[in-house]
Amino acid sequence: MRLCRYDDNKLGLVEDDSIVDVSTVLARLSPARWPLPQGDLLFRELGMVLDAARTAAPNGKRIKLADARLMSPVANPSKVSAAPVNYLKHLEEAKNDPSTFHKHHLNKIQEVGLFLKSSSSVVGPSEGVRLRFPHRRNDHEIELAVIIGREADNVPAAKAFDYIAGYSIGLDMTVRGPEERSMRKSIDSYTVIGPYLVTPDEISDPSQLDLELLVNGEVRQKANTRDLVIGIADLIAWASSFYKLFPGDIILTGTPDGVGPVQPGDTITARIAEIGEMSVPILAA
Ligand code: MN
Repeated sequence: MRLCRYDDNKLGLVEDDSIVDVSTVLARLSPARWPLPQGDLLFRELGMVLDAARTAAPNGKRIKLADARLMSPVANPSKVSAAPVNYLKHLEEAKNDPSTFHKHHLNKIQEVGLFLKSSSSVVGPSEGVRLRFPHRRNDHEIELAVIIGREADNVPAAKAFDYIAGYSIGLDMTVRGPEERSMRKSIDSYTVIGPYLVTPDEISDPSQLDLELLVNGEVRQKANTRDLVIGIADLIAWASSFYKLFPGDIILTGTPDGVGPVQPGDTITARIAEIGEMSVPILAA
């Protein structure tokens, strides 16, 4: 199934090029009381949500996918974990770039580990990326985004796929410069998740997916997730060996080579096979 959040926080099922409004399902979520549990409330009850959405779909109003204002399928991730330099060609590219500030970050991923981005940086494709510091270099990074479906604490790699709610396309935007990576990548709107959540049953093999990013129609990044240095299951195992993952948490699996700058007025098109495509405007702050 393909689940989206769109317009004014409507919940939709994506069917081909249309969206069926299944927002009535939201009334069935458990009432929220302070203190809220960690993680996203919808993803905590995703099994119920998907069942109820299937039942509600025949009576739902339909609109064209292209006419929807697509938001991130996760409204409230407790955190965004991200893999640095998880494709070897991107590691070589960064090492050979004289403008790279943090050379010590360019060790093998097995040495540097994962990093965190602010959960407040997450937006959907229709919201666009707002360049907070347009005079500095702002780079695009396309990544397969893995969305966690249930609490994961010290999960072995062999069981990791049981903890996945689904997949989306992710953009891990970056402003270049001397600050810590977590600060430069945590700017509001610098994590784009979309166009919707695709449940694992719809993906034949997440470690064999073509991915591609274009800026204004020109191909900048083109790769396949088979070239991930640390695969999806090991990323979940590794992350959850340090901290608990909660429903709705996002893991950005790393970007391939071809990263490059964007300017206000540009449009990013990001595609991942078996997931879909999203178009993301680059805006001035
Ligand atoms: Mn990245």
